[in-house]
Amino acid sequence: MEITFTGKRALVTGAGKGIGRATALALVRCGADVTAVTRTKADLESLVQECPSIKPVCVDLSDWDATAKALKDVGPIDLLVNNAGCAKLQPFLEITQDQFDMSFNVNVKAALHVAQIVARGMKARGAGGSIVNVSSQAAQRAVKDHAVYCATKGALDMLTRVMALELGPYQIRVNSVNPTVVMTDMGKIGWSDPEKAKTMTSRIPLGKFAEVEDVVNSILFLLSDKSAMTNGVTLPIDGGFLAS
Ligand code: NDP
Repeated sequence: MEITFTGKRALVTGAGKGIGRATALALVRCGADVTAVTRTKADLESLVQECPSIKPVCVDLSDWDATAKALKDVGPIDLLVNNAGCAKLQPFLEITQDQFDMSFNVNVKAALHVAQIVARGMKARGAGGSIVNVSSQAAQRAVKDHAVYCATKGALDMLTRVMALELGPYQIRVNSVNPTVVMTDMGKIGWSDPEKAKTMTSRIPLGKFAEVEDVVNSILFLLSDKSAMTNGVTLPIDGGFLAS
């Protein structure tokens, strides 16, 4: 199945590392004009060096006003990937207000805000669009020491459904991908220890974690017209974890 995005303009958040970076590069390969948004300037510099057509935007998405300012002149966008996320792991009884607020600001509030900015333009142009929120299997299953992370991704899944409901009439589709562990920088925080990793892989029918490409391929599918009638789904990329 060939997917092309020639003539489409895409914006990817958290494009400096991991899944977001690979998604931005894949979108370019498929012909899209890509705007990459992330916080660490050095990551954007190396991304533009690797792929000079990418337009970089450096902003801390946990800051609502700074985000509005940074994206004011971003121009029309047809495809949005709300990928930026953070995972601060701690036992439930040790969670602090700061950690809670930071996680919700990035994983939920920034996704809502960036989608508002982009979808207002999509609605005004009347040409529709596609939005993919990068959620997690942790949205739908409890994981030890992941209380805040699970809560943010659960909130993001419900945001996906309400956005699908409200934006659908403007032909703007909104879906999420819900991966199992992927060994990016974030994945390594929780799952580098082989013994701990086994406690998760043993619950995954396919017996392994996901690769970055597994997630990217599903994002591309949901962004593309190949999924033209799919709206409001939370698509597991989990080797069957959520089915078991
Ligand atoms: P990485 O940590 O590898 O990359 C996350 C990217 O998001 C980085 O470029 C990071 O920039 C950026 N980012 C984080 N916070 C902000 C912020 N406040 N403002 C701007 N950019 C920010 O993570 P992954 O690639 O693994 O994760 C991508 C998404 O996939 C996340 O939403 C995550 O929750 C989700 N996911 C990941 C899984 C995994 O096991 N890896 C499993 C399931 C879902 P910086 O480095 O500067 O902070």
